[in-house]
Amino acid sequence: MHTVLPFEVYPQHIWFVFDYRLPSLETRCENSLFRAKKFHSQKFNTRAEFEFYETNTLGYQTLLHHFYELRHLGLLYDTFKRNHDYLRISLTDNCNLRCFYCMPEEDISCATREQLMSPDEILNIAKQFVALGVNKIRLTGGEPLVRKEAAEIIAKLSALPVTLTMTTNGLRLHEFVPQILEAGMRSLNISLDTLNADTFTLITRRQGFETVLNNIELLLSHGIHVKVNMVVMRGINEQEINDFVRWTVDKPVHVRFIEFMPFSGNKWQGEKVVTSHEILEHIEKEFSFISLGKEPNGTARKYFVPGSLGTFAIISTMSHPFCEDCNRMRLTADGKMKNCLFSNGETDILAAFRRNEDIVPLIVQSVLNKKEKLGGQFGGDFGELNAEELHNRSMIKIGG
Ligand code: SAM
Ligand code: SF4
Repeated sequence: MHTVLPFEVYPQHIWFVFDYRLPSLETRCENSLFRAKKFHSQKFNTRAEFEFYETNTLGYQTLLHHFYELRHLGLLYDTFKRNHDYLRISLTDNCNLRCFYCMPEEDISCATREQLMSPDEILNIAKQFVALGVNKIRLTGGEPLVRKEAAEIIAKLSALPVTLTMTTNGLRLHEFVPQILEAGMRSLNISLDTLNADTFTLITRRQGFETVLNNIELLLSHGIHVKVNMVVMRGINEQEINDFVRWTVDKPVHVRFIEFMPFSGNKWQGEKVVTSHEILEHIEKEFSFISLGKEPNGTARKYFVPGSLGTFAIISTMSHPFCEDCNRMRLTADGKMKNCLFSNGETDILAAFRRNEDIVPLIVQSVLNKKEKLGGQFGGDFGELNAEELHNRSMIKIGG
C-alpha cells in the first residue's frame, strides 16, 4: 500500500464533495466502515456533505486504507468540478529584491514573527491539506529563501508524500543546495526577467544579476530541472524575448514567458501587457518551433525549437486564462487561504488553527467559494480593466 500519513493527522470530521461517486460511498457507509452522521445532497451540482465518525469494529489498517482510497478520489472539488491538489505556501512577505511589478514602493512593511506561520504550524496545516488530497506543494513568497527557518521548513515538508518544489529569485540558492537535494526537490522555478545586468537593476531595484545566473548554472550542474520565469513587460524587456529563446537552444533551461498581471500598487496598465500572441510573433521572426501543448492543470503552453536543449512556454493569464482546470490553492505567509491568485476573499486558516479548531471545513468551504475565472474580478477584454478597482493584496503579500 502507498505511504499514508499517520492516522492522527486526519481530522475527526471530514466533509467530502463528490459527484458520481455518491452511491459507492453510501454503500460503504452501510457496510459500517464509517457511519454517516449527516448526509444530504444538493441537487444543483451534485454536491453532498458527509460527516464521518469511526466505528470501533475495524482495525487501524482498514481505516488507513479507506482514507487512502478517498484521497485518490480527490476531496477538494469546487462547484465547477475542479479538483484541488496543489498548494502554494508563502514562507514570507519579505524579499531581498524589490521588483516593481510585485512589491509596491509605498508598502514594504512585513508581517511580524508572531503573524507568520511557524515551521511547525506550516507542517501541521500542510498535513491537513495533504489529507485532503494535495500531492504537490510549492514554496514561494516574498522570497522563500530569506525566511530564517527556510531550511527547517524545507526539511519538515520533505517528509510529506508530495512533490515539493519552490519558486525563488535565485539570489541565495548557493546557500541551500544541500538542503534542496536532501529534500528531494528535482525541479525549481527561478525568476529572471532579463539577461542584461542594467535592466536587472532597473526591474529589481537591487544588484545580483551575476549571482542569479551563477546559481542557475549551479542547479543545472546538480541535474536539477530549472524553469526560468520571465515577466514580459512592454517598454522594459520585450526586446529580450528572443535572447531567452536562444538561451533555451544552448542550455537545458525551460523559460516561461509570463504576461504582466495587475496587483495592488504595481502600476499595471493594459498596454504594458505583451500578449502570448505577440510573444509568439516575436519568436517566429527568428525561430521555427514546435508546440508541445499544455499539461493537464498546467498554466503554460509549451514550445520547443528543434535541436535545442531546453524549451520555452507562455503563461497567458491575461489574454487566455487557464482557469478551466485550475487545481491551485494558496496560503499566505500569515496563514490566510486564497482559492485564487485574484480572489478578493481570504480564509483565516492560521487563526482557526491557533484556536485548535478543525480547519478542514474552512478549507473545503474556501474551495467551494472559488469563482469560475480570475477570482470573479475580471475577464474578457483586459484592455478595459482598471487595475485600481481590483480588490487584492500585492503579489508579494499573496505569494506567487
Ligand atoms: N521571490 C520569488 C521569485 O521572485 O521567484 C517568489 C515569489 S514571486 C511573487 C513569484 C513569481 O511571481 C515570480 O516568478 C514573479 O516574477 C511573478 N510575478 C510577480 N508579480 C507579477 C506580476 N505582476 N505579473 C506576473 N508575474 C508576476
Ligand atoms: Fe521579490 Fe520575487 Fe517579488 Fe521580485 S518577484 S520582489 S524577487 S517576491
